[in-house]
Amino acid sequence: MNLHSGTPFWPLRDGLSAVFPPLGGAEDTEVAILGAGITGALIAHSLAEAGVPCVVLDRRDAASGSTAASTALLQYELDVPLHRLASMIGEQNAVRVYKLCLRSLDRLGQIDRSLGGGHGFRRRQSLQGAARKAHAAALRREADIRSRNGFDVELLDRRSLRKLCALPYHHALLSEDAAEVDAYLLTGSLLMAAAKAGANIHDRTAVTRMRRARNGNITLWTDRGHCVRARHLVIATGYETRPYLPDGIVSLVSTYALVTEPQPEWPGWPENCLIWETGRPYCYLRRTPDGRVIAGGYDEPLTDPAKRDEMLPAKAAALLRKLRRLLPGACCETAWSWCGTFAETRDGMPHIGPRPDGPPNVYFALGYGGNGITFSQLASEIIRDLVVEGQSPEADLFRFDRPSARD
Ligand SMILES: Cc1cc2nc3c(=O)[nH]c(=O)nc-3n(C[C@H](O)[C@H](O)[C@H](O)COP(=O)(O)OP(=O)(O)OC[C@H]3O[C@@H](n4cnc5c(N)ncnc54)[C@H](O)[C@@H]3O)c2cc1C
Repeated sequence: MNLHSGTPFWPLRDGLSAVFPPLGGAEDTEVAILGAGITGALIAHSLAEAGVPCVVLDRRDAASGSTAASTALLQYELDVPLHRLASMIGEQNAVRVYKLCLRSLDRLGQIDRSLGGGHGFRRRQSLQGAARKAHAAALRREADIRSRNGFDVELLDRRSLRKLCALPYHHALLSEDAAEVDAYLLTGSLLMAAAKAGANIHDRTAVTRMRRARNGNITLWTDRGHCVRARHLVIATGYETRPYLPDGIVSLVSTYALVTEPQPEWPGWPENCLIWETGRPYCYLRRTPDGRVIAGGYDEPLTDPAKRDEMLPAKAAALLRKLRRLLPGACCETAWSWCGTFAETRDGMPHIGPRPDGPPNVYFALGYGGNGITFSQLASEIIRDLVVEGQSPEADLFRFDRPSARD
């Protein structure tokens, strides 16, 4: 599957984020990780830190799947607001999920620092604007439930919003806790750190077949003619999970993004916040370390990459018009645009852990939804605990057979 097309910004800006040799012979390990995107990289890093030997395989260059196309806003808010998630899984569990995502932001910051920084990780506020007047009531409900549960948020009406910025929203929810990153660069650094700690990373090596022996060990065959044998397998193949999952677990959609030419200032922008909106078509904005704006969203329920790509020029033009409407005082000009495939779950939560009908030593790390990277971090902790301890206190929330994931 072609995961993205057009001109994603990060690989252009950063070049190759890391280089690894293809698999050159048979290898035996404790954990095989399929996929060297941000998810596989975080898992490899966390296992390597825990002293667990692992081998990572990717058919592309490391980090060049969806991770290369990511706009990389880091938010603890799921695509499903807390007040709606609470009605699906109960307030206590919904708050637990939101708090775990909040903790993931802190952990990602710690990881960035432990790797020496330089991955564009910055703490940000996030401002969610009511796209329509009628959305103010939902934002109020959201502000209530979050404040009641200790999240640092403030509901702004039009007057207080005007004092802060020039964005034309009726109401907005201002959250103190968000961040942004260059996920492509961070993935390269994570993989290099894991390799230094003993992990074997091989990109340009496709896994073509796998088999589980009676004793539970897994063998992966590759297009290089060599095998990897492991006690555990982690499937971190992002949106390319069709071969490993039954239909109906996730819905694929197409999403679009552009990055502007740099500007010394963005008049009307509130304090370098991440900006996103209620309602559809969904749209969000962030800044880059070199003074640009990334605008993304305008998703379409298209699964065919050719149809997705056909719509790129029209979608990029629509995103630019939107940007100009939101920031009328700024000079917005598109530098590059791109599109990618994306996936959603019904409850906005990721799938992490073994399938109920599958082997207990084959774990999935599927961070679907708008905050896939936050979920990747969560998955890295849960899977490390499942491998090392045989259990994780959080695994139950994200299991495949939770009722809220089904239609
Ligand atoms: C345009 C866009 C914007 C986004 N914006 C955000 C955002 O703002 N915030 C956020 O948190 N998330 C965002 N996301 C989602 C986020 O980027 C993804 O959740 C994340 O990058 C997924 O990482 P991954 O490692 O799971 O998948 P990938 O990066 O796709 O890595 C999976 C890897 O598995 C490899 N693979 C698959 N099958 C095989 C095989 N058989 N053999 C060997 N290798 C295989 C692939 O080659 C691939 O490199 C966005 C996504 C897109 C497309």
